[in-house]
Amino acid sequence: MTRQMIIATTLEELRSARLLLDGPVGFVPTMGFLHAGHISLVRRARDECKSVVVSIFVNPTQFGPNEDLSKYPRDLDRDLRLLEEAGADLVWTPTPEVMYPPGFQTWVEVQEMTQPLEGAQRPGHFLGVTTVVAKLFNAVQPTKAYFGQKDAQQAAVIRQMVRDLNFPIEIVVCPIVREPDGLAMSSRNVYLDTEQRKAATVLYRALSAAKDAYEKGERDAEKLRRMMKEVIEREPLAQMQYVSCADYDTLQELDKVTGKILLSMAVFIGKTRLIDNFVLG
Ligand code: AMP
Repeated sequence: MTRQMIIATTLEELRSARLLLDGPVGFVPTMGFLHAGHISLVRRARDECKSVVVSIFVNPTQFGPNEDLSKYPRDLDRDLRLLEEAGADLVWTPTPEVMYPPGFQTWVEVQEMTQPLEGAQRPGHFLGVTTVVAKLFNAVQPTKAYFGQKDAQQAAVIRQMVRDLNFPIEIVVCPIVREPDGLAMSSRNVYLDTEQRKAATVLYRALSAAKDAYEKGERDAEKLRRMMKEVIEREPLAQMQYVSCADYDTLQELDKVTGKILLSMAVFIGKTRLIDNFVLG
């Protein structure tokens, strides 16, 4: 069977291509510069749905003024090749003007769940994320949407938004895909030089140390946080931004560990900000 992957840029092109797709429709939103983590989401959607839509959009509103928007890596030709191989049916690559036409003034805000962790370090980040994802959902009208556990808080915030705004969409969260040495795959890993790339395993090492302690029975959340912090502090090229041991559902910091928990962190390696997490319990 020959299958032609359709590439849409404008909203009109997306809508007319979407009308031709058989359901259920799976949707994978991305910012491009794709790696095996993104492709795992596309393959999961391929397994579970009749049609697969992928968006590639580096969303300016989720970047802070001092973040890496202008140098965020891009390679559309390579992305399209990878998506064709992975079995995407429709790829939407809107421009900023398509997503934010002149006079744009409507925002979608999830209030509490966006306050801690990434939200505390990146003011306005989740306002950009929820607004763009709501717009992507409205345009694509998927049956299921696929997100990575890599961005744990993002997945939780999107689930909350979908519940609160009655989007008829099932959110599927997929496991983190890692390099052989444990580093979580990320488009931003390309910023790392050879020395930094070695140092970047510190996130996985710190999470693993806390996991080992947890498995040996440690239930003092502060001790787990301290343990992660100590591993990061021993790595000269790493600068910790936060470490967290939080309740998986509420994302609130814990004193005593019970139930399902999220160990997470943001660490600078040079100028590159990396995040990672483990879910335990
Ligand atoms: P991004 O292009 O960084 O916005 O990521 C698009 C989607 O891919 C998000 O749902 C991410 O959580 C997911 N993702 C990114 N990196 C990974 C990874 N290493 N493993 C699994 N999913 C990932």
